[in-house]
Amino acid sequence: MIKLITISIHSGELTSFWFDPWASPKPLRYTAPAIFKICENKAGNLTDFITQDQEWSIPLSRDLRPPEISQIAEVLYVINSPPLLSQDQDEIHWSLNLKGFSVKSLYDYQSNTPSDQEFPTNLIWNHMIPPKLCFFFWTAVLDKILTLNNLKKRGHQLANCCFLCSRAEETPAHLLLNCHYSRRIWDSILPNFGWCWSFPSSVLQFAQGWSAKGFSKLGKLIWKLIPAVVFWAIWCERNRRAFEGKAKNTLHLQTREGKGREGKGRERKN
Ligand SMILES: [Zn+2]
Repeated sequence: MIKLITISIHSGELTSFWFDPWASPKPLRYTAPAIFKICENKAGNLTDFITQDQEWSIPLSRDLRPPEISQIAEVLYVINSPPLLSQDQDEIHWSLNLKGFSVKSLYDYQSNTPSDQEFPTNLIWNHMIPPKLCFFFWTAVLDKILTLNNLKKRGHQLANCCFLCSRAEETPAHLLLNCHYSRRIWDSILPNFGWCWSFPSSVLQFAQGWSAKGFSKLGKLIWKLIPAVVFWAIWCERNRRAFEGKAKNTLHLQTREGKGREGKGRERKN
């Protein structure tokens, strides 16, 4: 989804913390509905949420419960550091037309844009998966894991070459999905479940397409664990090679991942 409205923050006094799309295309009340519900200041503007020490302060009516932690983590990730405020008024820009909002520009946009798929929150934040794997999966879907291409974006001077195949630049999608090393792992799993499909170009698309339809109850539980577990195994192998100079072949990784699904992988209903 592109940002239809862009807000330039200056004083922060005209921008609603929860209701305006100032940090992402989606207002924060939709990003974190559970946090919005327990926030004591739902109508506040940005200045109400920034302390004198230039830190965020979100007043909550009670302590966070475990299911809400992922939402507060997402809010803190999206809002990043508090903006530096000035005396000028905040400005709103309509990104489809430089002259400002028009019904025609919105109609043209909606006519030509396929609807976005849902963000795969339930697949990522699965209570049966250790939190560090969920967090890594979430970061990968956001395309933010510390692959060499992302380190370069942060200003590091590096030669970018995939640690697993040495044949392509390392990006999240290449490392976790399309590297021929990783493909061998996926190719060993998917046919066992009757799956055969071409790989999407991003981890987000991959996660959005990971459907558990047609599986038995137990099969669904297992199927939903696979992306996070495989991504984590590939990431650990990548780090072993990057930082310890050690390498394991895919057969070893497949065996480790296979232990969890042995005897369970044929749960799919016909
Ligand atoms: Zn590779």
